[in-house]
Amino acid sequence: MDVAKVEVQPLWHLEDWAGELPASLSRQLTTQRHIPVLIASCNEAIIGWSSLNDRSNKLVELYVEPEHRRCGIGTRLFRCLVSLMLDYGVAEIRLPSELIDHSTARHFLASIHACATNLSPALSLTSWMPGSQQRIHRLHKTLDIPLNYGISRGLRLYEDANELTEIGLDCWQRPQQMLPRAAAAWTLMQHSAVNDNVSLIPVSAFRSIDYQNRLIKRKLAAGQNIENVLKVSAAPGFSEHHTGRAIDITDGICTPLENEFADCKAFKWLNFNAEDFGFYLSYPQDNPYDIIWEPWHWCWREN
Ligand SMILES: [Zn+2]
Repeated sequence: MDVAKVEVQPLWHLEDWAGELPASLSRQLTTQRHIPVLIASCNEAIIGWSSLNDRSNKLVELYVEPEHRRCGIGTRLFRCLVSLMLDYGVAEIRLPSELIDHSTARHFLASIHACATNLSPALSLTSWMPGSQQRIHRLHKTLDIPLNYGISRGLRLYEDANELTEIGLDCWQRPQQMLPRAAAAWTLMQHSAVNDNVSLIPVSAFRSIDYQNRLIKRKLAAGQNIENVLKVSAAPGFSEHHTGRAIDITDGICTPLENEFADCKAFKWLNFNAEDFGFYLSYPQDNPYDIIWEPWHWCWREN
């Protein structure tokens, strides 16, 4: 086997793989909500896989077919799993005791992660995190946000937009900003709506990670508990508003950020037209992210 031809890729759904999957992987793909199974394949034959449990962040499997061991496939699978988990802000992977007690497995983990020489059931990923993510991780600790917040809800981590442009005033006369290309798409959409006698007014667009942190702190200080706060507000680092691509919209008549927006002409117009301008509804009814339905929250797609 030519190692250069080995591909490591995440599978999120059963139908993403045309060939036959080992039974354990099929089972995981049908029962997990947010964590993919990673497979290593060569010439469309699966030669290894790796996966986590989506509720406990516990490593379920890290397997390479015996004839393909000792050529770095296990390392690639594990690194790929860690890097994907970091996208979701996962700070810790739990290791099954069989792995910790197994000398080859210990050696393997220690070789890819210097901190893993003293293996414990909880393998911290913080030393793999970029500085910006470590900062978010620290913020979460102070707010008491669960370690697996992102992955348990399927929410990815975002960084603050590095370039912003003004889009005018919001419904409370505060200046708002978006990523330049998202702002251009927003302006086009707003003008197009006006031609149809529909007004689209921003409620809030770009919000920084620090802003989100202050917002949540304020709610906690007012006596709300963190579980309830997180049903309405994303944890710092996990809000689409950080990217400068998301915008909360009202029509100037209905109460901003209330479900009544779903009954307005503006919402109907958006449902019919927003896609033409690259905007989509991030949190529809019964979304898989444990976030309330937000008919007002629209996000511009990068491509
Ligand atoms: Zn929003």
